[in-house]
Amino acid sequence: MFTKEDLTRINHMGSEGNLYTSVYLSVNPVTNPKGEYFVNFRNLAKAEFDKLGSAEQKVIKEDIKKIEAYIKSGKTEFKKALAIISSTPLDIWEVYHLSVPLKNHVVIDKTPYLKPLASILEQYHNYVVALVDREHAKLFRIHLGEIAEYAEHFTPDIPGKHKKAGWYGLEENRFKRHIEAHIHFHLKDMVKHLEEIWKRGEVSHLMLGGSEESILLFNKMLPQPITAKIAGTFTADMHAGNDEILEKSMHIIKNTGKTIEERLVDELVTRTSKNGSAAIGLDDVLSQMQSGNIHHLIYIEGLSASGFKCSSCNFLTVQDMKTCPYCSTELEKIEHLIDFAIQKAIDQGAGISAIISSVKLKEAGSIGALLRY
Ligand SMILES: [Zn+2]
Repeated sequence: MFTKEDLTRINHMGSEGNLYTSVYLSVNPVTNPKGEYFVNFRNLAKAEFDKLGSAEQKVIKEDIKKIEAYIKSGKTEFKKALAIISSTPLDIWEVYHLSVPLKNHVVIDKTPYLKPLASILEQYHNYVVALVDREHAKLFRIHLGEIAEYAEHFTPDIPGKHKKAGWYGLEENRFKRHIEAHIHFHLKDMVKHLEEIWKRGEVSHLMLGGSEESILLFNKMLPQPITAKIAGTFTADMHAGNDEILEKSMHIIKNTGKTIEERLVDELVTRTSKNGSAAIGLDDVLSQMQSGNIHHLIYIEGLSASGFKCSSCNFLTVQDMKTCPYCSTELEKIEHLIDFAIQKAIDQGAGISAIISSVKLKEAGSIGALLRY
């Protein structure tokens, strides 16, 4: 399984001036029964290759050869998608077999292209918890139900509050400002730290814990893209054990996961009832898909259906037709219609959500989509 440590590692390896080949390939045997991914890679790689100067082409040739050989031979390990980051001159060769569908993409550039991997991590909902009080700021991360502390910022020299005030309280005000500046110091460090984490794409959600006063202050200091990702807050003592932080965080996580799924299904059902931009049921979804109109595909995990597919224009249908209504090619019967539909939605740039269980969605045909227009 691919982890955010892998992403960080890849992000930091290598040196400037060298070229990397980054490959993202749908290799799902269901949607690639004839090994179509090989040709897909060749075409995408060629388009990138042609953009290079002749000296660069010489270097990259080795990468491409190596990747082609791997794609040809690695079949038994293939899951739904394959990610390869390669740089022959730097002796870098990273391969990940992923069980989530991905869009085909090949990039040859001076840095590894990691955006698709970062988005996968986001789908797995990696959380960080910032625990803050007047003097400390601690950072935890939570991944698949486990917690680890991974940073601490501390402002050790906050002057005590007991110092005597000067004449007319003037001294006192100045002194207060002095304390405020100190209080901000460790929180500012924490903000910087979080910004770096966000840049690396390791984390999708943030939770804030600590004293109410410090949470409020810290919240104000965070840049908007990060505040938008706050999943919840809780009060806790700075010295609370990891178990307590985990328990309070998991409570928030469980509710977040649920509400995101519920919100999606609710929006789908509401849009449908108001005759808005939504498709409901497989038939409707597939016909909207044909016009590239899927914005977000929502389906019950494990849903399956058989149907028909046009090998020429990729038209999908559940109806027993002999020829494609769009290009008159003879249709072939396929068993795993849903897999093809998911891949097609991804190729169109749509979001996808597999819902574990939802009575509402089941009643609506187990599959639906929010539409672009
Ligand atoms: Zn067709």
